[in-house]
Amino acid sequence: HAKELGRNTYQYYSGSMNAMALERLTLENSLRWALKRNEFRLCYQPQLDAATGRVVGMEALLSWHRPGCDVVPPDDFIPLAEETGLIASIGEWVLWNACAQAVTWLHEGLPPVRVAVNLSSLQFRSRRLAELVRKVLRATGLPPSHLELEITEGVFMSNEEDAAAVIRDLKKMGVRFSVDDFGTGYSSLSRLSRFPLDALKIDRSFVRDISADPAAAGLTAAIIAMARNLGLNVIAEGVETLEQFAFLRANGCAEVQGFLFSQPLTPDAAAAFLRARSH
Ligand code: C2E
Ligand code: MG
Ligand code: MG
Ligand code: MG
Repeated sequence: HAKELGRNTYQYYSGSMNAMALERLTLENSLRWALKRNEFRLCYQPQLDAATGRVVGMEALLSWHRPGCDVVPPDDFIPLAEETGLIASIGEWVLWNACAQAVTWLHEGLPPVRVAVNLSSLQFRSRRLAELVRKVLRATGLPPSHLELEITEGVFMSNEEDAAAVIRDLKKMGVRFSVDDFGTGYSSLSRLSRFPLDALKIDRSFVRDISADPAAAGLTAAIIAMARNLGLNVIAEGVETLEQFAFLRANGCAEVQGFLFSQPLTPDAAAAFLRARSH
């Protein structure tokens, strides 16, 4: 009996595992084809100067328009892209696309803004990254100072020496660096201060709790003050209410980004937004 039960259990277990494995394999296979089939899109979310309301940057955000499915947000496929190594070619596509888009806007006479590109820490570990960026900037003609690379604290946790070398190479070119989702990782500001960074993005989770949670408000104010002392630009992400905006501005946060100002926009809508805000 025990044997029989064991076998049934095993079959049940292996059946559901197979279903999961199959689903993952299918997803992985379509992700492999997604680049060739041109299924990725970039949207752009404006970053505004908190004092003047002028657009200072556009963050490129990736999504996957998988045929027959709802649009797949990055959090649902970037981890798989990282596990499979596909992140290298996807990340390359993002860089080319975002830089080419920024140059198109310049040529259209729109006010110059930075374009911010998110990098996976895996991408970042490759020594090829600096070469790639150099190639993309040269081929598209984007001035290096118009490119901001968003990295996460994960980059500093391992391979600190390699990370520092790559950042230094890119900084020499004139590219800007910001630390994304700041406050969610374990790195301290003193550790970050060893790297030549330009900006710090306060994570949405702090901004969200500003009004309800005095501790979050205090922490946010402290992060802004310390970052400014280190000479870093501060960008708050996920700003949704006027109350959050007022608090951030009063505490010296230089730049803001969030649904209060704009959702991520298609390239055409982003151009229209830029045009409307240029006078
Ligand atoms: P992130 O870089 O921190 O991007 C901000 C995310 O917050 C975006 O989600 C954006 O749509 C969302 N957001 C912006 N304003 C608000 C707001 O006011 N309220 C709320 N609730 N959300 C807001 P999205 O597009 O789903 O991107 C999620 C994450 O995926 C990004 O977080 C980034 O880490 C990653 N990602 C996006 N594009 C790329 C890419 O090209 N390469 C890599 N490696 N990662 C990417
Ligand atoms: Mg980002
Ligand atoms: Mg973020
Ligand atoms: Mg994030």
